[in-house]
Amino acid sequence: MSIKQELQVPFIDLQAQRAAIAEELDQAISGVLARNDFILGKDVTLFEEEFAAFCEAGYAVGVDSGTSALELALLAYGIGPGDEVITVANTFIATVLAIAYTGATPVLVDADPHTYTLNPMQLASALTPQTRAIIPVHLYGQPADMDPLMAIARQHGLIVIEDACQAHGARYKGGRVGSFGHAAAFSFYPGKNLGACGDGGMVVTNDEQVAKTLQMLRNYGQSQKYHHDLKGFNRRLDTLQAAVLRVKLTYLDAWNAARRAHAAHYTRLLGDVVETPRVPEYAEPVWHLYVIQTARRDALRTHLFSRGIAVGMHYPIPIHLQPAFQDLGYQKGDFPVSERSGTDGLSLPMYAELTPDAIEYVATTIGDFMAEHRSDRASEPQ
Ligand SMILES: *Cc1c(COP(=O)(O)O)cnc(C)c1O
Repeated sequence: MSIKQELQVPFIDLQAQRAAIAEELDQAISGVLARNDFILGKDVTLFEEEFAAFCEAGYAVGVDSGTSALELALLAYGIGPGDEVITVANTFIATVLAIAYTGATPVLVDADPHTYTLNPMQLASALTPQTRAIIPVHLYGQPADMDPLMAIARQHGLIVIEDACQAHGARYKGGRVGSFGHAAAFSFYPGKNLGACGDGGMVVTNDEQVAKTLQMLRNYGQSQKYHHDLKGFNRRLDTLQAAVLRVKLTYLDAWNAARRAHAAHYTRLLGDVVETPRVPEYAEPVWHLYVIQTARRDALRTHLFSRGIAVGMHYPIPIHLQPAFQDLGYQKGDFPVSERSGTDGLSLPMYAELTPDAIEYVATTIGDFMAEHRSDRASEPQ
C-alpha cells in the first residue's frame, strides 16, 4: 500500500479556506460588532458596490439568499400568476421554487448534452403566448450559451434572469456572467465559490429602476422609513455576512483560478477514462463542481467513499421527476439529458485548496476501478 492510498479527500474544505484568512475575517466581524450596524450597514453598501463592479454590472442589491434573489428579481419585473417562466430540468430545486413562489408557472426544457446547461435549441418548442421570462442556469460554474438565448428573448420580448448561484466570476465570451440578462441572482451559501458564514444572496442588474424596486422589495416595500409603496418582504443581506463576503471577494479570482487549474489536472488524468466536462470555446468556467459522467456511477461512488474520497451528485433527481413538481405534468423520459445526468453524474472533490496529490489519488482510484470493470466498458457512453 502506497502512502497516497492513506489520503482522505473531503468534497469541500471550508476549514482550509478559513485558515488562510482567519485574521482578516475576525477583523471584519469585529468591525460590525463595534459599529452595531447589523441591518443594511456600511459593509452591505460597500459590498454591493464591489460585487457590482466584480460582475461588470451597474447595480447590486444584497438579499438573504440566492432563492430570494431569484424570486425578488422575477417580482421586480412584474412576473406572477398567469405567466410562464422557462428554465432547465437539470438545476437545483431553488431555481424552480422561486418561479413557483411568484405564482408563475415553471416550464422546463432539457439541458445541452455537452455542457449540461439550458439548451437554447429547446426554447422554441417551450414558448407560448404566456411566456414572460427565461432563467438560464450557469450550472456547475459553466456559463450557459447566452447569445442564442438572448436573441430568442429579444425576438419575443422576454425577460432573462440569469441563475448565477454557482458561477461567481465565470466568463462568457469575455464578459462576466450576471452582466448579460436583465438581472442575475447569486447565492452566498457557505459552499458556493463565494460563500458567507450562513445564508446570503445578491441580485445584479444594469437597470437603475429595477435596483430601486429590489431595494424596496427586500425591506418591507418601503421607499423611505414607514412609507410602504409595495407589499415587500424582510429579505435583507446581514451586515455581518457582507463584511465576511467583502474579505472573501478579494480572493475570489485567485480561488477560481486555482479551481481552473485543478479542473485541468483532473481532465488530463481522466479524459480517457470517463466522460469529463467539456468546455466550449465561449466559456471560462469557475468549476463550482467538477462533474464526470459514467454508467457505473453508483458502484464508482461507493468505491470512492471506501477509499476515503467524498463525492457528490448534482442532482440525482431532475426537477420534473421531483414529487414537489408532479403538478407540472411531466413524465420520465421527457428530458433525457437531465435524466442521464441524474443517473450518471458524479461530482469530484473541488475547492481552491485541493492539492495535486489529492487530485492524483482521486484520478488513480477512479482509473483502477474502471480498469477492473473494463469488461463493462462496452456499455459506457462515448
Ligand atoms: C445554491 C443555488 C440556489 C439557491 O441559493 P440559496 O442561497 O441556497 O437560496 C439557486 N440556484 C442554484 C443553481 C443554486 O446552486
